[in-house]
Amino acid sequence: MTARIPKLAIMDGMTNTFDTLIIGGGAHGASLAFHLARRGVKVAVLEKQFVAAGATGRSSGLVRMHYDLEPEAQLAWVSYQYFSNWGEMVSGDTSAGLSAGSGFTRTGFVQIVSPDQADELRANNAMLQKVGIPSLLVTADDVKRLAPSFYTGDFEIAAYEPESGYADPSATAMSMMQAARRHGAVLVQDCLVNGITLRSGKVTGVTSSQGGFSAPVVVDAAGAWAGPVAKMAGLDLPIDTWRHDTLFVKRPAEMGPSHPTVIDFPNLMYFRPETGGLTLVGLEDNNPIGQSPDGFTDKSQAGFTERAIERICRRVPVMEQGSLHSSHGGYDGITPDQRPVMGPAGPEGFWLECGFSGTGFKTSPAAGLCMSEWILDGAPKTADVTRFTADRFEKGIQIKGEHPYHSIWT
Ligand SMILES: Cc1cc2nc3c(=O)[nH]c(=O)nc-3n(C[C@H](O)[C@H](O)[C@H](O)COP(=O)(O)OP(=O)(O)OC[C@H]3O[C@@H](n4cnc5c(N)ncnc54)[C@H](O)[C@@H]3O)c2cc1C
Repeated sequence: MTARIPKLAIMDGMTNTFDTLIIGGGAHGASLAFHLARRGVKVAVLEKQFVAAGATGRSSGLVRMHYDLEPEAQLAWVSYQYFSNWGEMVSGDTSAGLSAGSGFTRTGFVQIVSPDQADELRANNAMLQKVGIPSLLVTADDVKRLAPSFYTGDFEIAAYEPESGYADPSATAMSMMQAARRHGAVLVQDCLVNGITLRSGKVTGVTSSQGGFSAPVVVDAAGAWAGPVAKMAGLDLPIDTWRHDTLFVKRPAEMGPSHPTVIDFPNLMYFRPETGGLTLVGLEDNNPIGQSPDGFTDKSQAGFTERAIERICRRVPVMEQGSLHSSHGGYDGITPDQRPVMGPAGPEGFWLECGFSGTGFKTSPAAGLCMSEWILDGAPKTADVTRFTADRFEKGIQIKGEHPYHSIWT
């Protein structure tokens, strides 16, 4: 559960004028606030509920680098440096070891593909290695040695990232936001932005349930609500909503104390260990597009649990001895090519960091860094994220990897 940060006295009796306003206090809003504030920018995060109330608080938290697109792999790899050195790079708390503040837990990560995707896997693994990511090609027998309870008869090779794992998304966003606040950022919760103000085609601020805020730069980091927020600036974005459910099962003792984090393309599934002897399971298919992002999230949709159990038992047959624990759901913004939207768009001063299409938690530390460079220095330096601008949609461009797999969400 996310601890609720007490609402701040908005501006400590000062002005409501900022350099930058960020709409949305999820992993991305918090990360951008951190990177801007540490460079001296006067920034406020306006959040309609509380930190991590959206996709971030429901995220499965996988931290892996396996993508079929180099800029996303770069974002994930730079972000990994944050997750694995959180105390040094973000929270300032180095006493609690590697995971201080983000809950990063190293489990190793296995990307399983069916035999007909083996060539793509080899090519993508080479791309990941070129980026510097520790990713190894392994055989099904190697996977069996890593995880003896897995069924490995339906694939030949996999990619293995020994350093990867998962993190705690709510804790990550909260820790990032606290670090941003230490650098002077202001967080305003229970603050619903309901309008974006413009003068002569330029952004001048926002109106909200807590009054007006002025700034020449406004960033839409509103996750599943990013489309309606962009509309307030007169921008039509093809960002839809994507619903995703996850199941938690109690592992049987036969599975041992833990197991690697896995993306399992043959079964359109991913899974990872969770604390308390649990395993978290998510499915790549049947994630409804276009629902209201304000729908229920305290349980999964009808039929999901049965499908998830059937899939996890295919890959881990001994899971038949496991027991159900719980399930829930969440919403993210999804784009037509399932890649993020970043950069300036629409009126001068309006920026987008959204559309992360169900895979944006693990990239949030570096995405915020790139956005801060773009806003302050005129171009992103850490990774080349310029391909993610919104004008690709008008031009009919769908971003694809050089050796694409199927779309993650089918
Ligand atoms: C169930 C689930 C599992 C996932 N698993 C993974 C995973 O394993 N690994 C991974 O990398 N990614 C995963 N993702 C995707 C990832 O969680 C998201 O891409 C990421 O958290 C998005 O962060 P965000 O900050 O852009 O959006 P959000 O976390 O949704 O934050 C947006 C915020 O904006 C606020 N807001 C909206 N409108 C307004 C407004 N008008 N005024 C003020 N505030 C507003 C909302 O309240 C919300 O808090 C998962 C997503 C879901 C739903």
